[in-house]
Amino acid sequence: MKALYPGSFDPITKGHIDIIERACKMYEEVVVAIMTNPKKQATFSQEKRKEWIEKSTAHLKNVKIIVGSGLTIDLAKRLNIHVLIRGIRAVADYEYELQQATTNMMLNHEIETVFLVAKPEFSFLSSSVAKEVASYQGDIRNMIPEEIIDEVLLKFSKNP
Ligand code: ADP
Repeated sequence: MKALYPGSFDPITKGHIDIIERACKMYEEVVVAIMTNPKKQATFSQEKRKEWIEKSTAHLKNVKIIVGSGLTIDLAKRLNIHVLIRGIRAVADYEYELQQATTNMMLNHEIETVFLVAKPEFSFLSSSVAKEVASYQGDIRNMIPEEIIDEVLLKFSKNP
């Protein structure tokens, strides 16, 4: 069975990677879809985000990375995928995720959302937190996959 993991991944963090790795053990193929979140203005282009996810998931055999558009459930339907993966960090995530999952359920009852709980060491971590630290050239080694740290820091340096 395949699963779709949609998100902004702006940029991908170690928290996202952990979810992808765990989903890869549960499903034959995990399709990571870089989506546009109308509530968030993206910092990085979809191409850059895709490139960074590709680099940091190179060790996984059953991952595919795509750029998606429109409603996630329409994308899932087009790809013939019936499972959506989402990560839950704290109670704050739960309310938003519940709303999304319930809406998706109303729109298409054949698609299930599966929630994976964040590992404790990543439960504070978000792309925004990583970007804030990176903007001061701080230590993002616990936040951003090793393969892309230098590039991310370069993007935030004064002379990129
Ligand atoms: P979106 O804009 O769709 O919320 P994100 O890239 O912020 O996209 O997150 C994608 C998914 O990954 C969401 O389900 C989010 O809760 C989850 N996620 C984000 N950060 C982490 C983390 N540190 N640990 C586990 N899951 C996370």
